[in-house]
Amino acid sequence: MTTKVLEVKGLCKSFGGVRALRDLSFTVNENEVLGLIGPNGSGKSTTVNTLSGVLPPTAGEIRLGGHPVQNLPEWDRVAMGLTRTFQTASVFPEFTVREQVVLGCEATRRSRPIASAFRLKADRAEEQEIAKRVDTVLELTGLTALADAKVGVISAAEQRFLMIATALASGPKMILLDEPAAGMISHERETLTRMIRRICDSGTSVLVIEHHMALIMEVCDRIVVLNFGAQIAEGTPAEIRENRAVIDAYLGE
Ligand code: ADP
Ligand code: MG
Repeated sequence: MTTKVLEVKGLCKSFGGVRALRDLSFTVNENEVLGLIGPNGSGKSTTVNTLSGVLPPTAGEIRLGGHPVQNLPEWDRVAMGLTRTFQTASVFPEFTVREQVVLGCEATRRSRPIASAFRLKADRAEEQEIAKRVDTVLELTGLTALADAKVGVISAAEQRFLMIATALASGPKMILLDEPAAGMISHERETLTRMIRRICDSGTSVLVIEHHMALIMEVCDRIVVLNFGAQIAEGTPAEIRENRAVIDAYLGE
């Protein structure tokens, strides 16, 4: 039986007169990588922004593990297992890689109202749990050897891997990646491709926005295609490659 991690129904988002999202409906299952592709301005980032809680949807339903979350703030969604990275990397150059990932853990801990209402500092058991989680996440993102390096000195690609690691530190069921390969060269994209697969295999479903077709076609189980905010196709990479509407709107450009 397939378990639905994320369900999106009739999602709409307008900015004044601009209808950025028009009635999107799709699901992401457990152990699945879903690709979201489409031309510039087709609504990909807006989708991630409404799913993560950065923007309120104009209409529609977002369910996480069966629970409606569309009216919850971003941090509640993180605590419930939905996390994301942004299109541009934001890191603290003076922190070490490990410290930056610990921040990601802290973010979830603080968002548990009962735990944080009574004590602001982690107790010993909690600290050990955090350390273990950080090690796992560094391993998953290939950053173990750089754990004690200052964030400011690692490469741009490594900083992007670190953004993924920080998001994973909250132990999510689902991670949303907005153009994770931006600025990467080919061997870094290959590293990222393997990383996305490992993340999925470790129990975190992935929604990935990318315009590098090779990466999308290799890593995704299914792909949703947007054009002018509307869903024009959905299918396996093989189906999408053959889809006439997709070729006309996007792949053939
Ligand atoms: P993509 O990520 O696919 O390139 P976006 O989701 O960023 O596309 O944008 C979709 C549409 O919504 C575009 O027409 C864009 O100009 C508009 N848009 C996105 N964010 C905003 C915003 N905060 N305010 C007004 N219009 C926006
Ligand atoms: Mg975008």
